[in-house]
Amino acid sequence: MVLANKSLFKDRALIGGEWVSAVSGVDYDILNPATGERIASVPDMGKVEAELAIKNAKDAGKEWKRKTAKQRANIIRRWYDLIVENKEDLAYLITLEQGKPLAESRAEVDYGAAYVEWFAEEAKRINGDVIPGPAEDRRVVVVKQPIGVVAAITPWNFPVAMITRKVAPALAAGCTIVVKPAEDTPLVALAVAELALQAGITPGVFNVITAARGHEVGEVLTTHRDVRKVSFTGSTQVGRILLRQSADTIKKVSLELGGNAPFIVFDDADIDAAVSGAIACKFRNGGQACISANRIFVQTGIYDTFAEKLCAEVEKLKVGSGCTPGVLIGPMINEKAVGKVQEHVSDARKKGARILLGGERHPLGGNFYAPTVIADVTASMVINEEETFGPVAPLIRFESEAEVLERANDTEYGLASYFFTRDHSKAWRVAEALETGMVGINTGLISNEMAPFGGIKQSGLGREGSLYGIEDYLEIKYMCVGGI
Ligand code: ADP
Repeated sequence: MVLANKSLFKDRALIGGEWVSAVSGVDYDILNPATGERIASVPDMGKVEAELAIKNAKDAGKEWKRKTAKQRANIIRRWYDLIVENKEDLAYLITLEQGKPLAESRAEVDYGAAYVEWFAEEAKRINGDVIPGPAEDRRVVVVKQPIGVVAAITPWNFPVAMITRKVAPALAAGCTIVVKPAEDTPLVALAVAELALQAGITPGVFNVITAARGHEVGEVLTTHRDVRKVSFTGSTQVGRILLRQSADTIKKVSLELGGNAPFIVFDDADIDAAVSGAIACKFRNGGQACISANRIFVQTGIYDTFAEKLCAEVEKLKVGSGCTPGVLIGPMINEKAVGKVQEHVSDARKKGARILLGGERHPLGGNFYAPTVIADVTASMVINEEETFGPVAPLIRFESEAEVLERANDTEYGLASYFFTRDHSKAWRVAEALETGMVGINTGLISNEMAPFGGIKQSGLGREGSLYGIEDYLEIKYMCVGGI
């Protein structure tokens, strides 16, 4: 492995500022999804290590929360500077273990770092309130305090950003944290944690435990009485389990779950802009994003033109190892993910959809899937119901605004939606009617640190990023001051 900064290669977990192995001594292998080769082995941890990490986080919290907001802000800001300075190495690690093209990995480091910068600034703005009292001799004072120990469970698709988006606000608020990164992508998580230590974050404030199977560690993190908050990004199915497990100890829970994003192109849209938006939104990270367009609705008048133009652009997407220059679509994360895409495509084919492009594994073999465009997708197909999480663009024809809104909202998910139109009034109507937490209007790119990211319905609870994102890590305390 060629890293300019050798200190960033860490293959042990981080508990209480120490790089440690599993108590059992057992490791598991991390594979490069482009080649299937072993990159490293990391500790396969479980209950004992999770409990130890929680204890360290609890102990470290006593000092961390006493720091002034400015002290915490300065340390978090240093962490941001170090992430940016080490961008190339971090991007390389992302591509190595996650597979996305290097250019996208660099963009992810910038995107992930932006949350650290943002929350370093927000640390200084955790203001309270003074409210007029109910009697002449009484005052009502509201302060915000760190919630305590946070547990974060994160996915593999954005292995840096999904961590910084939780750790930075937690630390800014004065909380401490135990992170369990996805089993497939722990290396870049460990590298980012090493940079946090180098930035001066107190040992024990930020712990990372690695595990081959999420459930054992997850059970401890969600049931331990000293963990006050759980923040999870991943599937709705696992989110339900974690929410249920968190119930007995009444934890505050934030969930960023699955989506089934509609992407609507009206007859009056700028078709070229809509095609570019669809490419950005559907094929970035090979479609492995929860806000990826999952159902592309195109109005009848422009359906054929849009399909033709989209295919022409998708054909240009070069597939290969993320390290190869010019590659725009890397491998999928693992064989299971490829299998799911295949199932969705073959179900659609069986039920009468037309494959315009791709529709099969890529000739490179392994975890590579050919960028695919499917026309004439209908409501009865699995691809219309479930998140495909792959480089497949399903096109659905529609006639009217009322019809497309009905169909777009006909899902248990409510994360992101997108639409393209040049009609100002329609833009307001449609944006207000879509049942999602985020709406892209004439754009396929909606995620940034300034905006509240999150879903409604079964896509989640809470928001990440923005001025709202820190609230999830704070408790409100009200003091009634009497005898004045
Ligand atoms: P994805 O479909 O993106 O892989 P998952 O929800 O399966 O999403 O995984 C997201 C994260 O949740 C990963 O870190 C994974 O290890 C963890 N995870 C999966 N199952 C459980 C579980 N039962 N308890 C706790 N964490 C889990």
